[in-house]
Amino acid sequence: MKELQNISQKLLQEKKVEFIIGYAKGTLPLCSTPIVITNDKECGNLIFDLTCGNNLATYLVKHRKPITDNCKPIGVVAKGCDGRSIVQYIVEGQIKRENVVIIGVPCKGVVDFKKVREKIGEREILDYRIAGDKILLEGKDLHISLSTQEILDDGCLFCKYPKV
Ligand code: SF4
Repeated sequence: MKELQNISQKLLQEKKVEFIIGYAKGTLPLCSTPIVITNDKECGNLIFDLTCGNNLATYLVKHRKPITDNCKPIGVVAKGCDGRSIVQYIVEGQIKRENVVIIGVPCKGVVDFKKVREKIGEREILDYRIAGDKILLEGKDLHISLSTQEILDDGCLFCKYPKV
């Protein structure tokens, strides 16, 4: 996480990117939210863990106008599958390669909420902590440690290219 924040900070400080699209902690536990970072002092908000399921490549397309207007490149945090989407957009001509700086992150998979619900029922999750291959879920009536493998999206269990 710290490395991601440091790389992003450097890119902004050296004005190599216009802004960075990444993930921040969401308001709901186990949910990250996409974030656009324009100021290097905000890079401490960037996270990357099992909750970062959104494919940020789609946000690149949403921000296509600045990309095609010859401004500085846009930085984007990308898992392996996001990287493949970015390549697809480039091949389709929706974005230009030289206008994107891909910040690749090593991905260990993302959470499938249905699997989490099967484990904990309707009990409310108030917080979570990831330690190695375990995830600790905490709530009012909840204190459970699960193997991350048990709650990963099926597509992640056999992913051969988790990194860009
Ligand atoms: S493990 Fe592979 S398929 Fe799953 S989110 Fe990561 S890169 Fe994508």
